[in-house]
Amino acid sequence: MSRRKIVAGNWKMNMTPAKAVELIAVLSPVVASDDVDVVFCVPSISIIPAVAAVKGTKIAIGAQNMYMADSGAFTGEISAPMLVDAGVSYVIIGHSERREYFAESDVMVNQKVLKAFEYGLTPIICCGETLTQREQGITIDFVRQQIKIALLGVSSEQVKKAVIAYEPIWAIGTGKVATTEQAQEVCAAIRVLISELYDEAVAAAVRIQYGGSVTAETAADLFTQVDIDGGLVGGASLKPDFGKIVNY
Ligand code: PEP
Repeated sequence: MSRRKIVAGNWKMNMTPAKAVELIAVLSPVVASDDVDVVFCVPSISIIPAVAAVKGTKIAIGAQNMYMADSGAFTGEISAPMLVDAGVSYVIIGHSERREYFAESDVMVNQKVLKAFEYGLTPIICCGETLTQREQGITIDFVRQQIKIALLGVSSEQVKKAVIAYEPIWAIGTGKVATTEQAQEVCAAIRVLISELYDEAVAAAVRIQYGGSVTAETAADLFTQVDIDGGLVGGASLKPDFGKIVNY
């Protein structure tokens, strides 16, 4: 089965709302593609102007996080219905920076994934090992556990629409990109896990991205691996080079 590629930019905590609109004007023409889904995951304060700025293009706007309740006394948080109302279609869940700096657990990731599906948002579910875990030889066990928990209670129809981003923590923002073999090995293992949890058809439908210091130079080799369906891109998504990554 051929899966449509998806390349998402994770802008992290960069760009004011005004700068976001300027950057979208620069990036929109260079990321245009008929073959690849393109998503800009912008800071929450820039979501509304970003949705307006991509109008008339095929670019989708994503959020970088959301909370697992619909509403209530959760100061500073943003909910799935708020994202939907603002015109968001994707949401990154369980990015390693959220896990590390904001103590997001696998259980919270699962709750957020379920909530995203409940509201029709496509979660980009992040997983990935530390350098120590890779050196200990437990990468695949660790990633399997993260994904197994993230998908608890998720139906096969839902999981088919999910995007999973394999992002080795040691490769994020470090300039150290995983080799194509390392990235393919883990993405293939994630697909095997999905076929065990669901079935082959579901596993064949799920899109799995690689993320971690992807550049215009490394994108083509990574994104043409059999189990890699595109990328989640941090630093390089803020530059015109992002167009080269999308059109690898
Ligand atoms: C990320 O934050 O998801 C990421 C992959 O960052 P970078 O491309 O900068 O390593």
